[in-house]
Amino acid sequence: MEVESPFKEIIEEIQELGGDAVKYCYQCGKCDTVCPWNKVTDFSMRRVIREATFGLSEIELEDVWRCTTCGKCPQKCPRDVKQIDNVVALRRMATGYGVSNALLKPVRIASASLAADGNPLVVDREKRADWADGYNVKKFEEGMEILYFPGCYPSYDARLKKVAQATANILNKAGVEFGILGTEENCCGESIRKTGNEEVFKRLARDNIKTFIENGVKRILVSSPHCYHTFKNEYPEFMANFEIVHITEYLLELINEGRLKISKELAKKITYHDPCYLGRHNNIFDQPREVLNKIPGLELMEMEESREESLCCGMGGGRVWIDTKMEERFSNLRVEDAARLGAEILVTACPYCIIALEDSRLGLGYEETMEVKDITEVIQEVI
Ligand code: SF4
Ligand code: SF4
Repeated sequence: MEVESPFKEIIEEIQELGGDAVKYCYQCGKCDTVCPWNKVTDFSMRRVIREATFGLSEIELEDVWRCTTCGKCPQKCPRDVKQIDNVVALRRMATGYGVSNALLKPVRIASASLAADGNPLVVDREKRADWADGYNVKKFEEGMEILYFPGCYPSYDARLKKVAQATANILNKAGVEFGILGTEENCCGESIRKTGNEEVFKRLARDNIKTFIENGVKRILVSSPHCYHTFKNEYPEFMANFEIVHITEYLLELINEGRLKISKELAKKITYHDPCYLGRHNNIFDQPREVLNKIPGLELMEMEESREESLCCGMGGGRVWIDTKMEERFSNLRVEDAARLGAEILVTACPYCIIALEDSRLGLGYEETMEVKDITEVIQEVI
């Protein structure tokens, strides 16, 4: 006789929303041994999976919202349980039921802003291209070499506008014929999707794809590994395939083709932080290192947790919008890792990582001894 679970409907809903693989979990706990949360607090992905298996998930509590989708535990799981798909399934369920609490208030604000203005920052769409004023940046036209898609934070955030501007300077110096879409650009939708909001993600994705096609876009350059990931791996769900290039790949291409010349020395000790969505999720580990190693005088040092083992900055999976207690920020640990090495510059290649690492650098009192820079800001100095 089949024993019916009292929570069968919930189990089925989790499965339908993408959490089907939880049934393979045999509770070995390997996920918990690598999860960065366990460096700062008590959190168990094994427990989240267990509860989902029995339909007992508490979708309004923080545990379901902690996972930054860093990708560390899926690479260790012996049963291919697809932990990220499971938490996203639980978050889809929460979004469907309209779960609302103080923790999720900023996610709701971001979601409303995305729907209204195409960005999560509650800023007017009309201001999206303001960062480019005075940087010799044209509107994209069919036939140009590449579309530059800076994404939301480099378009609007005061610190990250410098990354978009450094990118424009580099592209101009290399003689690249590029353009932007400006006010026609929408958020890529990667992070809102990880919070379980499929409706807003699909609307953003469809709008972007329509705009790319109407403008004759073929090759897209991005600053953010999150844009990279969703354009490359998720937009094909809409039968849309564009060539996506991350700036770390493009810098190497431009240098190797002789279009971008490194002409100055930079005698600094630096270390490179692998963003989860560039490294673990998309296997781009070597290109940024190759680019940095081309700079004369520069000493590139590796942190203990690097490449596939890189420590998450804490901002993925929609956590960029959720407040994390100061003592629970992974980025604090990362800044301390870099400081222990004696790094003068902590370099990375992701807007989310920069937000987190800058915050920790200042919070921990390293403003005089260490800088946090995007790779474009470093290259801009030596060309
Ligand atoms: S590593 Fe995989 S099988 Fe082991 S407890 Fe975690 S999810 Fe389950
Ligand atoms: S994906 Fe990363 S943050 Fe999420 S549970 Fe796994 S190790 Fe932890």
